Amino acid sequence: MDTHTTKTCSKCKQNLPLNMFGVHKQKKDGLRAWCKPCNQADTRRWGKSNPEKKAAGRKDWAEKNPDRWKAMKLESQHRNRASRLPKQRVLAKQKSEALSDNYVLTALRIDRNLVSKELIDLKRVQIMIYRYIRGRK
Ligand SMILES: [Zn+2]
Repeated sequence: MDTHTTKTCSKCKQNLPLNMFGVHKQKKDGLRAWCKPCNQADTRRWGKSNPEKKAAGRKDWAEKNPDRWKAMKLESQHRNRASRLPKQRVLAKQKSEALSDNYVLTALRIDRNLVSKELIDLKRVQIMIYRYIRGRK
């Protein structure tokens, strides 16, 4: 195996291409000892057992990097806006304002075979109440 294009992960012991490893500037080879999947699995496991720490860490990061945080938020907003076509947006708005059976059905997010007319009416009322509350804020 070519040692210049692969590296052995010290966690799962697999010989993997270098692009499977994250960058770590303090390391001699400039790469992390664990491969990306191992790192991700570990981060996820850690986050699961430390939900408060995870949230705190994110908040900490946002406080230390306010500009980057702002940029990230703006970017994601921009991305969401750009991904929607204006025509589709108008159509969706019309649909949601009219609260058509189909729109309410989508909002219910359950198999339409299990949805009764009564349930659609109830959901419609729920959406109207929600909008009323939101509109008052
Ligand atoms: Zn690994």
